[in-house]
Amino acid sequence: MNLSLPHVLVVGAGPVGLAMAAELARYQVKVRLIDKATAPSDKSKALVLWSRTLELLDRAGCAGAFIDAGLKASGASISAQGRRLAHIDLAAIDSPHPYALMLPQSETERLLAQHLAGFGITVERGVELADLTPGRDRVTARLRQPDGREEDVACDWLVGCDGAHSTVRHRLGMDFAGSAEPSDWLLADLRIAGPAIVPDEIGIFWHRDGVLAVFPITAGRVRVIADLGGAAPGAAPDLASVQAIVDRRGPAGTVLSDPIWLAYFRINERMVDHYRVGRVFLAGDAAHIHSPAGGQGMNTGIQDACNLAWKLALAVRGIGHGGKLLDSYDSERRAVGAMVLRNATRLTHAAVLRNPLGQIVRNGLVHLLGELPPVQQRLAATMTEIDIAYPDSPLNRTARGAPEGRGAPRAGERAPLDGDLARRIGAGADPKFLLVGGDGGGERALLERFGALVTVATPDATLPQKYGAGTGLWLIRPDGYIGLAAPADGWESAAEYLAMIAA
Ligand SMILES: Cc1cc2nc3c(=O)[nH]c(=O)nc-3n(C[C@H](O)[C@H](O)[C@H](O)COP(=O)(O)OP(=O)(O)OC[C@H]3O[C@@H](n4cnc5c(N)ncnc54)[C@H](O)[C@@H]3O)c2cc1C
Repeated sequence: MNLSLPHVLVVGAGPVGLAMAAELARYQVKVRLIDKATAPSDKSKALVLWSRTLELLDRAGCAGAFIDAGLKASGASISAQGRRLAHIDLAAIDSPHPYALMLPQSETERLLAQHLAGFGITVERGVELADLTPGRDRVTARLRQPDGREEDVACDWLVGCDGAHSTVRHRLGMDFAGSAEPSDWLLADLRIAGPAIVPDEIGIFWHRDGVLAVFPITAGRVRVIADLGGAAPGAAPDLASVQAIVDRRGPAGTVLSDPIWLAYFRINERMVDHYRVGRVFLAGDAAHIHSPAGGQGMNTGIQDACNLAWKLALAVRGIGHGGKLLDSYDSERRAVGAMVLRNATRLTHAAVLRNPLGQIVRNGLVHLLGELPPVQQRLAATMTEIDIAYPDSPLNRTARGAPEGRGAPRAGERAPLDGDLARRIGAGADPKFLLVGGDGGGERALLERFGALVTVATPDATLPQKYGAGTGLWLIRPDGYIGLAAPADGWESAAEYLAMIAA
């Protein structure tokens, strides 16, 4: 490790930069985090932390603080013309966090900053990335201090978490291909009361004029969003205009009051075609932006950070430096970004459908399919992001004879988190693979050779049933995805796998 430079300079202290810096700091990486804004944002923008994000925060030992501060929403329902078409119940999902955690983004950022401060790192505020020069062995960043002074900082790696208008992306000359949706949307954070308001449920109301969505924030306080079907009539909506839309599209008898944020916004759908250029990476809104339908933007960004942090932490230790490992960030996360963008676009287009015949067909189909348990389970798994996987990752290996039965964990899948494992995967100060299962035959030799890369879950962890007692051997990545699936005596495969990671 080169101790004279920051290993990683993180640009942007939104939720993604904060998560990125916290994960790196937890893994003992020397990190600087800068943000051009002199104070944190007080905007509640993203309201939901989904189950998969909470599972990843569990690894970092900080999910509890978020759960204490948030409101657990049990599900979501879609209604039209006063009739419930579909209900998605989150209680049945296979996760230690079977709910949507409602928490304003400003609170999420505050808690992430608090977690980061626990590693002795604070955000350098009022410091702007003015320029960067990527090099073969390092990156040079020109930083503009609050007094206008400029400073050149060299770092091993730079991560651009600087949002939709990313300077990092611009300086690299990267395209942000995509388009803007044609109509404006209204947003209002306010108090709500009414006989049909379910306090812990996300309510979507399809109307022939467009969609209305109501998200709980705290008891009695909600976010209302609605599409306007055209250009916004002014700079910002007032309470009366929001009430008028809710009266028309929402449940009867709903009364709004006490607005704290009223705004119009427009939806952009864009992403880059590379998440990595040499020693520079992009994460979060700097790499992908999409409709807030599905509430996945911030969650996807935080998960970008969790994917990249352990790889960079190994790279600064000289493991997997410049090989497959770092490249896998681009292929794994770009595939997820593209999928999230596609789903959010589909959801938005379905919600804003204006053709009356199309609306009848849509409502009928959703009513029919929405009642089927497999469809409900699928929707819940997609919403909560527990079905995110890396089936095409270059880091996946399946050895001959690996368990193949129904439910057997496969390479690229999210590792089952039952029992003690939820707390052990990727935990601690070193990013290590977790060895699960195996017949014990080659364990000692593997640990002797790859002790810096792997730790063992047994014998003190009870092996969850899903790993099929005694049938297989798995290597779980520090971000909780299966890297290798092998038979119980697959020690050679395990050694080959770890050698591939370290190369
Ligand atoms: C109305 C609305 C509702 C949303 N709802 C949801 C939701 O329910 N769920 C969800 O998951 N997502 C939602 N999103 C999206 C979510 O807010 C974003 O995805 C999230 O903020 C992205 O985080 P980020 O850290 O990538 O970028 P940002 O939050 O944009 O942070 C980027 C940071 O970089 C700093 N910066 C920029 N340029 C520089 C520079 N040159 N030098 C130094 N610092 C710089 C900025 O000051 C900023 O602090 C919503 C967004 C909006 C607008």
